[in-house]
Order: sequence, then C-alpha cells, then structure tokens
Amino acid sequence: MKLSDTLTGEKTEFIPQGDVVRIYVCGVTPYTDSHLGHAMSYIIFDVLRRYLEYRGYTVRHVQNFTDIDDRIIARANEQGIAPIALAERFIQRYVEDMAALGVHQPHVYPRATEEVPEMLTIITALIEKGFAYSTPGGDVYYRVRRLSRYGELSHRDVDDLLSGARVEPSTEKEDPLDFALWKAAKPGEPSWDSPWGPGRPGWHIECTAMSLKYLGDPIDIHGGGHDLIFPHHENEIAQSEAFTGRHPFVRYWLHNGWLQMGGEKMSKSLGNIVSIRDGVSRYGADGLRAFVLSSHYRNPLTYSETILEAASRGIERLAVAANASGPAEAAENVDASSFRARFLDAMDDDLNTPQAIAALHDLSREINRGQAEGRGIDESQRTLRELADVLGLRLPPPNATNGAIEAAPFIELLLHVRRELRTAKLFQQADHIRDKLAERGIAVEDTAEGSVWKRDRG
Ligand SMILES: [Zn+2]
Repeated sequence: MKLSDTLTGEKTEFIPQGDVVRIYVCGVTPYTDSHLGHAMSYIIFDVLRRYLEYRGYTVRHVQNFTDIDDRIIARANEQGIAPIALAERFIQRYVEDMAALGVHQPHVYPRATEEVPEMLTIITALIEKGFAYSTPGGDVYYRVRRLSRYGELSHRDVDDLLSGARVEPSTEKEDPLDFALWKAAKPGEPSWDSPWGPGRPGWHIECTAMSLKYLGDPIDIHGGGHDLIFPHHENEIAQSEAFTGRHPFVRYWLHNGWLQMGGEKMSKSLGNIVSIRDGVSRYGADGLRAFVLSSHYRNPLTYSETILEAASRGIERLAVAANASGPAEAAENVDASSFRARFLDAMDDDLNTPQAIAALHDLSREINRGQAEGRGIDESQRTLRELADVLGLRLPPPNATNGAIEAAPFIELLLHVRRELRTAKLFQQADHIRDKLAERGIAVEDTAEGSVWKRDRG
C-alpha cells in the first residue's frame, strides 16, 4: 500500500514499524457543533483505519480534545458557565456526530486539561535543553530558530515564514516566530500551577505530550487537515524532536484538503458552515461519506448540494443492489473477483477512494444485470457489502434511508405506469401498484384531474 507523505512530498510504500500501526489525528476544539469540514477529515481518517484493519493490521488510534482554548473561555463567559462544562457539552455532541457518521471511536480520546503534568515535564526539559525560555510575565516560548529543520514540513524556510507570519504583539518574545508553550493566566481564566506561575498550556504542546504518552515515538501516521501543516504540525515536530532528540517524530504525514464553500474554506470564523447534524439529516450518513470519498483526500472538495444529492442517489443504487433478492438456486453466479481486485488496487494507491467507489458502482450494475438474467447474486452481494464497509458505508435497505433519497420521481413514474395499465383496462395490475404503494405509506387518490399521491404517515 502506498501513501503520500507531506514531509517528503512523495508517494511511497507504507511499511509500519511493528505489528501495531500507531496513528495520531488532531481532534477538535469543542466550543461549538462540528461542521462538514470536520466530518470530511474524520471520515477520511476513519477510512484509512478501516482499510488498514481490513488488510490485517492492528491499529492504535489516538485523537485529542483541545478542551481549553481562548474560544472556549470566551463562549463559556458569554453563557455564564465554566469553560470545562461548555467543552464537555460539545465533546458529547461531537461523539454523537461521529456515531451518526459511523466513524470508529479512537482507542484513546485524551483531553488537554487532563494531560497538563506531561506537558509541564516536556516544557521543563525544553527549557533545560535551550529550546525554550520563560519570560518575566510567566509565559514560555519555543525558540524556533534553534531547530535547523524548522519549516521542512511546510517546505518553507524560516525567513519566508517570518515575512508571511501574522505576528502577535508580544514584547517578551526573542523572535516573532517563537510560539507559546505556556501562557500566563489572565484574570478569570482557568489555570494550572507551573514552575513559571499559574497559567495554561499552548495548543501545540498538547499533541506532542499526548502522542508521546499514548503512542511513543516515532508514530507511524499523523493525520489532520491541510490547514494544520503550518504552524501546528511544524511546531509539533519542533517540540517533539527537540525533546526526544530523535528524528523523525512521524513516519508518514497525511493531510486532507479543505472543504470549500463559496470559494473559501468552510470554517466557523468565516460563517460558511453546515453542521454535521444538518448534513446527516439532509443527505444521510452514507450520502455524506460518498460525497467526501468522491474526491481524493488530498484534494480540496467543494460543497455542492447538487453533488451531495448525486452522492445520495449513488448510495441508493448501491443499496438497491446490496438488498436485491436473487434466485434461490442458479446455475451460474455473478463473479465479483475482478471488482474486488480493482477496489483493492485503488485503495492501495494512496486511498484512491473515487476509483474504489467506481468499482463498487460497476459491481452493483453487474449484480443488477445478473439478477435480471437469473444468475445467483448472494456471493457478489456479500462482496459488495464487505467492500462498502471498508468505506464505512452501511447500505440500509432503500426504504429505510430516512427520506434522504427523493422518492417523488419514482412514485410519479409508477403512477404513469398505472395510468397506462388502466387505459389498457388492466385494472388488477393497476390496483396492485396502488396497494403496494399504500403498504409503503403512499396513498394514491384518483380525482377528476387524474391520480394524486401523498404520504399518509411519517
Ligand atoms: Zn494536533
């Protein structure tokens, strides 16, 4: 299996260092509901994990919650509640969202506020080694120019970064590029005791502390959105490698492209978001997955209702094939082996999910053809379900898709057929269509203007 590594910029054979593939994925800051941009990233890393497990690897997956942060504090203050209570509420909602999407839970879900002692140990060691310094105001900063490799992940050199950096006003930094490992407490903020006075950890240090604690080093795969390459992941490398003295801290860096909406990255700060909850209720979990996986994970994906609806309809077609009933006995069976081989080839090629889904669609067409020709389809349906499950697709029976698929055109088509049957005086067959629709909750009424229908339940 080949994976693209952001650090080397190359697609190379993935060889884990041991029996267990160790994956760290950066988690959310729980101050609001997560949106489809988050869903995209977590679906992609879920598929990576599912595929590795399908290929026989044991995966250990760790993902953090940044449960202390300026935005959490600001929002909690607005609502008059404790920051930790606000974070807890949105952690629970995030966990529910992931369950709705069928994303496997990580094996460890560490929280920043519960890992402060580990962070203090690392920060103390970085100061001792000369990679960090404390200020009279009680902050601690990382000395970026001290690590010669800084910038290698984002493929920029330090001086370019400086000219492009959004420099925070701080008179206490030695260099504008230096970043905070520890922030002195401000009045009214939650704080922890430290050798530099009360304060709270910076964002980057938590991922170093948690990945080292729960996975050791080096880790096999570190994942996250493309927007985390700089500065977050660059800073994680700097801290981790300065602390351990070993390189590389991560063997394969995987980054997914942005979800774009209206020509910009979907983000809370821009306000162009669709929440995961809304997305699932509109398109179904399978529909959202199919949309995300319809594009290669490294590419940006543009939010489009038309494409989402097409993805939902594609899932409907797979579900129809997966749930069709074939003959009890058949002389010949549909052979799914070539479709399986195509699927595996695609996934082995840096998780080429668009090609993998195309193989599933071709297999579903072959199943439909086989069914029409009286060939056996059980075995090929099992293959379809098995491979769909690698992508996390659940393929429920079509009438159980929670209204995610628009049924109206099909009902109209049936009424058109029924009219033709009645014109041909085939009333028994026409009544049969009406009765079968009624069983599915669609009431047909014949009026002077023709037949009309409505849903009579749900
Ligand atoms: Zn992180």
